[in-house]
Amino acid sequence: MRLQDKVALITGASSGIGRETALLFAQEGASITVVDINDEGGQETVRMVEQLGGRALYVRADVAKAADCQQMVAQTESTFGKLNVLFNNAGIMHSRDDNAMTTEEEIWDLTININLKGVFLGCKYGIPALQRAGGGSIINTASFVALLGAATPQIAYTASKGGVLSMTRELAVIHARENIRVNALCPGPLRTEMLMSFLNTEEKRQRRLVHIPMGRFGEAKEMAKAALWLASDESSFMTGAEFVVDGGITAAYVTPE
Ligand code: NAD
Repeated sequence: MRLQDKVALITGASSGIGRETALLFAQEGASITVVDINDEGGQETVRMVEQLGGRALYVRADVAKAADCQQMVAQTESTFGKLNVLFNNAGIMHSRDDNAMTTEEEIWDLTININLKGVFLGCKYGIPALQRAGGGSIINTASFVALLGAATPQIAYTASKGGVLSMTRELAVIHARENIRVNALCPGPLRTEMLMSFLNTEEKRQRRLVHIPMGRFGEAKEMAKAALWLASDESSFMTGAEFVVDGGITAAYVTPE
């Protein structure tokens, strides 16, 4: 097993990428702290992990709040004894996040607080725990929109993910000699609740789909497999990288018909 005896904390694990990653990491031998603000979904993820024979703990924490992030790490260490893998994955894409002229300040602040400050706070409290464990792997979920401008505007989201990417590089450099690796996962457009509710008409979906060389949206399970590689020792010489898993969208200038 690729994460035998490891302990992983995954934020945003009540659904989507976070839940699929919790299930895969557990199958690979890790104990999981499932963090979210959606209690029902989080408890369901725990049940699903347990059904697979794994160990999981649900902690309600709003990643935009320092006290909650401190608590999620403390509960992980008191329950499982250590922390080896920190997956800062929670994020939102607000339906009122639009272009610079129309996006309200409140939506900007909310998005930056969860998507960007949430990663900072996860690291602020998670890194000392990784140091106590002798090192580990941090994975921060960014997005392909950190690399490309999107035609469907979402200015706060895009800016937040750009911030995640640059923060990831600096964290990687600072902690490289401590046996702590920090990489950003950059998913392409996925067939998850988050994106499908943002691209809420067939026209909007087609507008995004036409840019993906593979001609389909990605799956949360495909991101979980990428996260597993980043979490495990198989990626031992990789840090500070943007790990792009996007069906070719960032490689394309014109996609095939
Ligand atoms: P999702 O909505 O299924 O999962 C996000 C989870 O984060 C939810 O369970 C939600 O309750 C939780 N969350 C939201 N705010 C939170 C907070 N303040 N504190 C704790 N938890 C909170 O969506 P997903 O597609 O699995 O998204 C996971 C990550 O992947 C996000 O960071 C997202 O921006 C990123 N991403 C998604 C796509 C996509 O196409 N779906 C593409 C690129 C990147």
